[in-house]
Parts: sequence; C-alpha cells; structure tokens
Amino acid sequence: MITASPLPAQPAGADWRQQWREAERDPVRLLSRLGLDSLAARLADDGLRDFPLRVPASFIERMRPGDPDDPLLRQVLPMDDEDRLVPGFVSDAVGDSAALTANGVLQKYHGRALLIATGSCAVHCRYCFRRHFPYAEETAAAGHWAAALEQLRTDKSVSEVILSGGDPLSLSNAKLAELVEALDGIPHLRTLRIHSRLPVVLPARVDAGLLSLLRASRLHKVVVVHANHGNELRMAGSPHAETAAALSALREHGFTLLNQAVLLRGINDSVEALAGLSEALFDLGVLPYYLHQLDRVRGAAHFEVEDAAAVELLAQLRSRLPGYLVPKLVREVPGAESKTPI
Ligand SMILES: *Cc1c(COP(=O)(O)O)cnc(C)c1O
Ligand code: SF4
Repeated sequence: MITASPLPAQPAGADWRQQWREAERDPVRLLSRLGLDSLAARLADDGLRDFPLRVPASFIERMRPGDPDDPLLRQVLPMDDEDRLVPGFVSDAVGDSAALTANGVLQKYHGRALLIATGSCAVHCRYCFRRHFPYAEETAAAGHWAAALEQLRTDKSVSEVILSGGDPLSLSNAKLAELVEALDGIPHLRTLRIHSRLPVVLPARVDAGLLSLLRASRLHKVVVVHANHGNELRMAGSPHAETAAALSALREHGFTLLNQAVLLRGINDSVEALAGLSEALFDLGVLPYYLHQLDRVRGAAHFEVEDAAAVELLAQLRSRLPGYLVPKLVREVPGAESKTPI
C-alpha cells in the first residue's frame, strides 16, 4: 500500500537518476503496493518479456490504491489482454523502419526532422507504438551525434529539430548540452522541440542543469509533454506539486508547453476524462495539442477506440470547452505528409 501523504516537492537538482534506477519493475509488487494483489492472476506473459513493466514512484503515488481501473495503473500494467493476437495490430505500426535513416533521424514531414535521441524511457506505456522498435541500435547517440548532425547541417530545408525517442530527457545533461550546442551552430535551424513524458512521470528530471543548458540555446524552444489523464497532473484534488514546479520552471525559461495524448479505451474515452485532462493541463500552463488515435501496434488492440466514437467525443468536448482547450484528433498514416486529422 502506498502512503497517502505526498512526497515533499523536490528542489531543482534532486537526484532524478536515483529515482529512475528505483523505478518499480515488478508487477506483482506494484499490485501489492496498491492493495490489488488479486489482479496478479491477470498479468501478461509476453508483455513482461519483451517490454517489461517500468514505472517511477512519483507516478505510482498518483494512482488510487484499491482501484483496479485506475487510469494511471492501466497505462503501465502489462495485463493478459496484451497476449491476444489481433489481425492488423503489428510490430511497426507507423512505418518508422522505412523512414528512419541510419543516423537515427526520422524525416517524414516538411521542415521538421525527428531525432531518435535514445531508446530509454522512465515509464513503459503499454500502448506505445515504439514497444517493438529496435531502439538500442538505431539512436542518434549511438554514433555520438556526428552523422545525425551532418545530415541536419546539409539539409537546409530543416528548420525544426524534434528530440524524441524513447525519451530524450533520459540522456544526461552533459550529453544534451553537447547536442544542443551543436544544434545551435547550424544556422538554418530555428526551433528545438523536445517530446518527453519525464516532466509528468519523473518531474525531478527538470533540474537546474537541464534548465541552464536549455536557456543557453538561441533556438525557439517547445516542450511537448505527454499526459493522458488529469490524474497524472493532480494529487488529492490539487496540482501535483513536483510536476507543477517542473512545468512552471520550463515556462519561466521561455518554453512553449504543449501536450499530446493518446485516446485509450478504459482510460480517457469519456468527455469527463478528456475535459478533465484539458483543464488540468491548463492549470499547469500547458495547452492540449494532439489527441492521437492509437497506432495499431501488436498487444494494444484492447485500447482502441473506434473513429466514430472518437469523433463524437470531440464534438462533445467542443461544446464544453473553449476552443484552445480542445486538442486536434489525429492519426499517424504511413506515407502521409503530416499527422492526419480525423
Ligand atoms: C509527429 C511527427 C512530427 C511532428 O509533427 P507535428 O505535426 O509538427 O507535431 C515530426 N516528425 C515525425 C517523424 C513525426 O512522427
Ligand atoms: S516513448 Fe513515450 S509513450 Fe512510448 S513508452 Fe516511452 S514514454 Fe511511453
């Protein structure tokens, strides 16, 4: 059972690496911490082997003890639904293997290049389209950035670099500083975008070193965080203190903050959940950007919401919220020139 009292807010510079190392990796122990031992009978076999459970304590503390349907728990717990093979749900659901160059650079859209900076994540999300992706080999860091940077330098059509992964903020400040300095030196680049779930799931990562290396960059800066449910941002009815502090520090350092979410059956497929997410994001200075239809990756079929239901949810959301709190409902279509609106 987890304790009900919140952890004290971590000062900037708290040791995020230790929290990373101590992330829970044993599903049976996680269930026991939440008083849900009986759910152990429904754990997946396969999911444990090729994409094991991983979840930091900071995220676990926002789960509701005793609730088998907790929306945070369901995002990370490998359950036996994953073992079901469903036609159409495949390993490389978004055609990344074809678009990825040897340097760990993915270029699918005009003006933007996405760098697979690393394969690691602080949390393993069961619906992730990258769960079967061969990251260890195909990251830009594997070649010490040189080849990836050379590709960006020679392609003058690229004005925005997106650090993705895996989770790019799982890299050390030293590695990130080296990368960001090199990007600063490429004249045609204007914007640095970071796609990361860490400010939400392990907010101690936003430490003083990270803030100062980013502040030093001349580039426009955007962070796209990833939360799927308002409970990821709150605890006991108030904003989660550490996450609020991390996001506010990023904002004060000139970052534009956006959120991408995935529409997930049983987790956020109600107008209450989606409106609650948008409002919780806005409370922390983040605007909703994309709501993604699930990528059809093997093991994630049970999370899928049909397009017609998704469109109906968005219509209800528009009738409840100001336009700037309604995300764009999109899907990733292999070969398309942008995310595809639904
Ligand atoms: C999603 C994605 C982007 C970013 O698209 P935006 O619509 O600009 O957010 C860029 N490159 C790749 C390969 C992507 O998958
Ligand atoms: S890439 Fe993002 S969605 Fe996928 S497991 Fe890592 S943090 Fe989760």
